[in-house]
Amino acid sequence: MDKSGGKDSKHWTSSLVVGVDAIDEDHNSLFKLFNEARLIAENKDSDKLLLIDLAQKLLLYTKSHFRREEVIMAASAYPGYDEHREIHQRFVERVQSILDETIRAEGSLAEFIFALEEQFVSHIKDADLGLAKYTAGFENEVGHALLSIEPLSLPNNINIYVVDDEPQQVELMIELIDVAGLSAIGYTSALLLIEQRISNADIILLDLNMPDIDGIEVMRMLYDKGCSPTFILISGFDERVLHSARQFAEAKNLEVATTYSKPIDSRKFIEEIGTLYAEKTRDIEERRDSQPATSVDDGLSVDELKTALKEHQFVLYYQPQVDIKTGGLRGFEALVRLQHPEQGLIYPDQFIGLAEANDMMPELTHEVFNLAVDNYQAFRKMNGDPKHQMSINVSINVSAQDLDLEMPERLAELLIARDIPADLIMIELTETALRTSLSDSLDILNRLRMKGFSLSIDDFGTGYSSLVQLYKAPFTELKIDLQFVMRMLEDKEAHAIVKICILLAKELKLETVAEGVESADVLNELAVLGCDIAQGYHIARPMPFAECSEWYIKYQQQLDLDA
Ligand code: C2E
Ligand code: CA
Ligand code: CA
Repeated sequence: MDKSGGKDSKHWTSSLVVGVDAIDEDHNSLFKLFNEARLIAENKDSDKLLLIDLAQKLLLYTKSHFRREEVIMAASAYPGYDEHREIHQRFVERVQSILDETIRAEGSLAEFIFALEEQFVSHIKDADLGLAKYTAGFENEVGHALLSIEPLSLPNNINIYVVDDEPQQVELMIELIDVAGLSAIGYTSALLLIEQRISNADIILLDLNMPDIDGIEVMRMLYDKGCSPTFILISGFDERVLHSARQFAEAKNLEVATTYSKPIDSRKFIEEIGTLYAEKTRDIEERRDSQPATSVDDGLSVDELKTALKEHQFVLYYQPQVDIKTGGLRGFEALVRLQHPEQGLIYPDQFIGLAEANDMMPELTHEVFNLAVDNYQAFRKMNGDPKHQMSINVSINVSAQDLDLEMPERLAELLIARDIPADLIMIELTETALRTSLSDSLDILNRLRMKGFSLSIDDFGTGYSSLVQLYKAPFTELKIDLQFVMRMLEDKEAHAIVKICILLAKELKLETVAEGVESADVLNELAVLGCDIAQGYHIARPMPFAECSEWYIKYQQQLDLDA
């Protein structure tokens, strides 16, 4: 339980008892929070960002309490409702500006918390102490009204942040959010926002057009920090910015609840922010309710990953790639999954990041290579016709971490031992994997090519590679990212990107693969544009190795029939 207790608070005394139970309980809880916060703030080792976050949360708690008090006042015979509300508002403004100044001048946050407490004591003495005589006889009404408002808390820990370089706009948004019965924290500098501990439950109202760093960059920086809050995007005038921000968000699986153009329709906004908040609250509660005691919600642990490697729990699924002109099978992409004894099949998005963060990718890639090579040998044995199978590629994904100087030798040795020619192996690398140090990678890529491996640039269109990079690196294939392919018939820009990628690849003498082909219509359009290879659910989903041969035989039969 709470060690500091009410008694230890510097300020809480019986002389501050208002006589309205709900209010006294709130006051007591707030004093405890102030006290705890001050103890943390006085500790020299406390992290500054944590303290700023703490101070801001205290202010949110105070606001939450004010809303509750206002509900009580409204439900009783209290005569000074409007006046008292104004006092609350001024209180919050004053304290917010003290906090801003404290942060700006790098002042003491312990002192800020102390000042907040002082102000709060004065507020109780000046404005609250007389409340009880107006609530007497209205206990039922007050009780009823309190049911309609959240308890004193950071409600479900959903924080709303407003980020806009124009202070007036920040103020306006905060006011609108206030009207919706919620509170928000405003920033005119995106850099300050990024330093916050943003949780996935949070909502961020993000202005896309800002001078120092723009909204897309903010989203990217948050994403890189592992934050995926819900965004509401706001743009001044440029529809294209909105469009690319949305695309960026989709590619990264970030949630964009809505977008607005300035000037904002206030009424619509108030309504929508209220709805969004309620939805998020419900989601959080549902998730909390449905979570089993031993949850896998936090994902895999490093130990589980190590065990998976040791016990060979990884398996490969294969997704076919077909020649768009002839329909013939060109190869399979190997996609790794973890077959966990208790948790079942786990997809790569649950563990690749973890493996990367813990420098375990080389080991994982080694396992993937071994599996792929074993499977390939088996595949050859099962499918007699040497004419076909000799030209079937296997594509393997590697990440930036795999690109060490010994890698080409290591992989080549593996193949030689199994008598598999390197030119049947396509190594897929994303643009982002190359971004860090192209000059170092170039050496490795060139040596991979010299050993006979083919090289594919994966997820093309999502990263930052320049034409020069593309020209210098010895790629043999370009894979157009599936987000463009999937939408190319509905979205003009996506279509344009696919088209340009194909043209570019032709100029550079690369073969093109379109992944994410989900319909015959998309396949036809790709044929028109001159794309070489297709991969996607329309052709086949990734499947376990055992199903591959079966699929292959059926596919060949159908192809022969059609011919
Ligand atoms: P990726 O390399 O871009 O792989 C394509 C992903 O798109 C696969 O997801 C695949 O199942 C999915 N996909 C294929 N066709 C369609 C389609 O028509 N529609 C849609 N909506 N999706 C389609 P998967 O298997 O979950 O893999 C996700 C990512 O994990 C891969 O993206 C790759 O970056 C990474 N990954 C998978 N296996 C490995 C591996 O062995 N090593 C490394 N380093 N990364 C891997
Ligand atoms: Ca890939
Ligand atoms: Ca891809």
